Amino acid sequence: MHPDLPAMIADLRALVEIESPSTDPAAVARVMDVVEARARELGGVAEPLPGGTRQFSFGVGGEERPILVLTHADTVWPHGTLGEMPFRAEGDRLYGPGTYDMKAGIVGVLHALGALEGRWPRGGVRMLLTPDEEVGSRASRPHIEAAARGARAVFVVEPPVTDTHALKIGRKGVGSFGLTFHGVASHTGNKPGEGASAITEAARAVLEVQALARPDLGTTVSVGMIRGGSAVNVIPAEATLEIDLRASTVAEGERVAEAIRALAPADPRVQITVTGGLNRPPFEPGPGTLALFGRAQDIARGLGFEVGGEVVGGGSDGNFTAPITPTLDGLGAPGDGAHAAHEHVRLDRWPDHVRLLTRLLGEV
Ligand SMILES: [Zn+2]
Repeated sequence: MHPDLPAMIADLRALVEIESPSTDPAAVARVMDVVEARARELGGVAEPLPGGTRQFSFGVGGEERPILVLTHADTVWPHGTLGEMPFRAEGDRLYGPGTYDMKAGIVGVLHALGALEGRWPRGGVRMLLTPDEEVGSRASRPHIEAAARGARAVFVVEPPVTDTHALKIGRKGVGSFGLTFHGVASHTGNKPGEGASAITEAARAVLEVQALARPDLGTTVSVGMIRGGSAVNVIPAEATLEIDLRASTVAEGERVAEAIRALAPADPRVQITVTGGLNRPPFEPGPGTLALFGRAQDIARGLGFEVGGEVVGGGSDGNFTAPITPTLDGLGAPGDGAHAAHEHVRLDRWPDHVRLLTRLLGEV
C-alpha cells in the first residue's frame, strides 16, 4: 500500500485547474465529470441526485450498510483566481485554489479506493460529491442526511487541523441571525420626543446578545455587522444587526437561539423582527465518533505516525451526519490556508493520510 504521489499530484492538478466556485454549477459539474470518470474506472456506480450532487457506490448491497464518504467539488475561489494563484509546487508544498479545501481530499479518496483493488469493505463504500458545501449545503443537505441514515460510519475528507494534522472529532454548530429594529422616525430638533430610535434599541441588543456567550462551554456570539439610520437629523426608524453564533452542544445552541428570539425592546414603540437560526447543528464527539477515532489512532501508529483529534470551531457537512451516524472528519490532505492566498497541501504528510484512509475504509 504505497500511494503513488506523482499520480496523486497529477490528479490534483487536473481538478484544481478546473476552477469551480459554488456560484457556477456548470463549472462545479466539470470537476464532478472528471471525478465520475475515475470512480467508474475503479468499479463505482455513478448516480446523479437532484440539486447537482453525485453519488458513487462501490460494492454497495446486501444486508450490511455501507461506509459513507463526504466530499465537495465547489471552492470559495472565483473564476480567474488561477491567474494569481497558479497550481504550483514549492518544496514540499503544493499551492493553488481549492487544493487543501478540498480537492486533495477527493484525490485521496480515489487513491484510497484504488488501493483496495476491488476488495470493498462489508456493505461497500458510498461517496457523495456535493456542489454547495462552501455556501451552506442547502441543496445537498437532504441527500447527505439520507445517506447518513443508511450508513454505518461517515468519513469526511475535509482537511485535518492546520499545524497539528489532527483529525476532527467534533465541530461547533453554526448559526446566523438577522435582527431588524423598526422604530419611529422624527425630526431631531422639532419633535425629538415623537421618535423611537431603532439605533438605541439595536445598541442595547448588541451588548445583551453578546452577553449570551459562554466561552467556558464553547459558546461564542458575535455581532459582526450593524447598519441603521437615514440621516443625522432624523431619529432613526430602522437598524439591523447580523449575528454569528457558534455552540459546542445542541442545548447551548438552542439556549442562545431562544434568547435571541425572545429579545424585547426597552421602548415598546420599537418592534424587533428576527430571521435565521442554527444552519449547522453541533457535531459533538459522541462514543461512536470516539471509537472511529480510536481505530484511526491505532492504524496510524501501525503505519508509523501519531494522529491527534480535536474539536474545531468551523462547520462542515459532518455537522449534518454526526447527530445521525458516527462521523470522523479531517481525513483529507494536511496543509494550511483554507480560503486564503497561501492555500496549500503538505506533500511530505499527504501519503501517510491516504494510507490511513485506505486502511480505515478497508477495516472499519
Ligand atoms: Zn471544505
